[in-house]
Amino acid sequence: MKPEDITNIIVTGKSGAGKQPRIDVLVEEFNLEQLSTGDIFRFYLKKFNEYNYSDSLDVFWDEDNNRFISDEEISNELGTDNPDVILGLKAKYFVDRGLFVPDYITNALFESAFAKKNYRKQVLDGYPRTLDQSKFLLELLEKHNSKVDFILLVDNSDERIIERTVNRRICPKCGRVYHLIYKPPKDGRCEVCGVEVIQRSDDTEEKIRSRLKEFREKTLPAINYLKEKEIPMATVPGHLEEFTPENVRKSVMDAIEKIYSEISIE
Ligand SMILES: [Zn+2]
Repeated sequence: MKPEDITNIIVTGKSGAGKQPRIDVLVEEFNLEQLSTGDIFRFYLKKFNEYNYSDSLDVFWDEDNNRFISDEEISNELGTDNPDVILGLKAKYFVDRGLFVPDYITNALFESAFAKKNYRKQVLDGYPRTLDQSKFLLELLEKHNSKVDFILLVDNSDERIIERTVNRRICPKCGRVYHLIYKPPKDGRCEVCGVEVIQRSDDTEEKIRSRLKEFREKTLPAINYLKEKEIPMATVPGHLEEFTPENVRKSVMDAIEKIYSEISIE
């Protein structure tokens, strides 16, 4: 498997399974970039915020038809036709209200960000996460003569993820990550900054369980759909007895080698 043979890779797995170290391996081994849904949302929200529009966003929503007014009407109202600002507005409308972001918005943001990368050389992280998103992605790839070479599933047990996450503490200043059992912060403080470490509001057991449920109910069907469409899948363990960079790299590369050797046998 040479870097130039790879077009795009999807990395998936439960939230907290340990995706990032595997993504780092793929980025390095195959000269790819990481395209994360979280970063995409932050990018477009920033574009909108930089535009300094401070009035209510209600005028952009067509209550009667339960959708946004047309892009032309939005751009007249906003005073700009910058597509990134308009996408940012649409994302912000839902995010500000604490509403679930519908697939058509996530798809539109993803498409725009993926287009900026010419639909190639990306590790997709956090996308697709629903069946609709999987279908949209396959259409998009076909339209632009691109492909996903394989899916890398980072596998980890619910129990281990919960144990890892509820004990996680973060330095609010530098972002350094601690674990109350495996890497305890001395006197509850960051070893670099000296400030008190905190628990992220997302790291409670209730929130983790809800993310695990969402993975089972929405993301697994999305991944199964891609497998049915003949995209190969490699599975790597999210937990390693000895968690060293070399072991992480080897487990990722072994799993990839395995799918390609199976394909050549067939
Ligand atoms: Zn710190």
